[in-house]
Amino acid sequence: MPEAPTTAADMTAARPLAGKVALVTGSTSGIGLGIARAFAMAGADVALNARKIGPDTEKLVAEIKNQAGVKVICVAADMSKRDQIKASVAETEKAFGKLDIVVNNAGIQHVEPIETFPDDQWETVLSVNLSSAFYMTKAALPGMKKRKWGRIINISSAHGLVASAFKSAYVSAKHGLVGLTKVTALETAEEGITCNAICPGYVWTPLVQKQIPEQAKAHNMSEDEVVKKVLLSNQPNKKFATVEEMGALAVFLCGPGGASITGTAIPVDGGWVAH
Ligand code: NAD
Repeated sequence: MPEAPTTAADMTAARPLAGKVALVTGSTSGIGLGIARAFAMAGADVALNARKIGPDTEKLVAEIKNQAGVKVICVAADMSKRDQIKASVAETEKAFGKLDIVVNNAGIQHVEPIETFPDDQWETVLSVNLSSAFYMTKAALPGMKKRKWGRIINISSAHGLVASAFKSAYVSAKHGLVGLTKVTALETAEEGITCNAICPGYVWTPLVQKQIPEQAKAHNMSEDEVVKKVLLSNQPNKKFATVEEMGALAVFLCGPGGASITGTAIPVDGGWVAH
C-alpha cells in the first residue's frame, strides 16, 4: 500500500510530527539537542540518547516535556557499542510502542595528520560516526517496514562531500555515511521509508568549539586565526549555522513535505560545497 498522498492541510499542520516517535542519538548537546527540541515542538514524542543518565539528562527531559507537551525519555546507550545500540531501539519501542524516526547524530572528531593519527582514534571515530548508524538502521528498520512508515536522517557533514587535511577518520566516516544513506534509501524506497543525510558546514556547537585549540596546534595559528582562516574560510557566507536551522530541516524531512525526498545528501553549509 502506498503512503496516503500528502494534502494541502498536511503541509500547513502546526504540529506536523504529532503522533510520531523519534530517537535522536547523541542528543543532550549541540545539533542532536537542537533536532530533538524541534521534533518535540513539532509534536513528536522523543527519546533522547546519552551515554549515561544523570541529573543533567533528567533535567533536560523535564524541560523539553514541559515546553512541548509531548512524552520525552532519555535512553542510555554508547553509540560505539552495537549491543547498546540495539537495546536503545528496543527500549524506545517498549516505552512508546513504536519507533518512526531515527536521527543518527552522535559524532566525534579527532584532528591530526595521518602519520601520527592514533590507531585507536581512527577505530573510535569510525565506530561512533559510521558503524553506529548502520547498527541503528538495522535495528529500527523491521518496525518501520511493518508499519510502512519511517524516516531516517544521518547527520553527515560537508566533510561527507569534500575533504580537509588532518581529518582522515572523520572525512572517511562522513563520506561513508552518505553512501549508507543512499543504500538505505534504495532498500526502503517502496516501504514508505525515507533516508537522507544532512551535511552541515560549521555549526556553532561544543564539537566545533573543542576543535579550535586542536586546529590551532595543527596549523600553528592563534585560535582567532583558526576561526577566520581555517573554519570559516570554506564557508562563503562567513557565518556559523545554528542548531535551530538543523532542527527545522529535520522536521521538514520527516514531515509531509519530505515524503518523496530520499537518498539525498543535503548541504547546509553557506555555500561551502558549491566551490
Ligand atoms: P556535540 O559534541 O555537541 O554533540 C555530539 C553528541 O554526540 C554529544 O551529545 C555527545 O555526547 C554524543 N556522543 C559522542 N560519542 C558518543 C557515543 N559513543 N555514544 C553516544 N553519544 C555520543 O557536536 P555537534 O556539533 O552537535 O555534532 C553532532 C553531529 O553533527 C556529529 O555527527 C557531527 O559530526 C555533525 N556535524 C557537526 C558540525 C558542526 O559544525 N558542529 C558540522 C558537520 C557535522
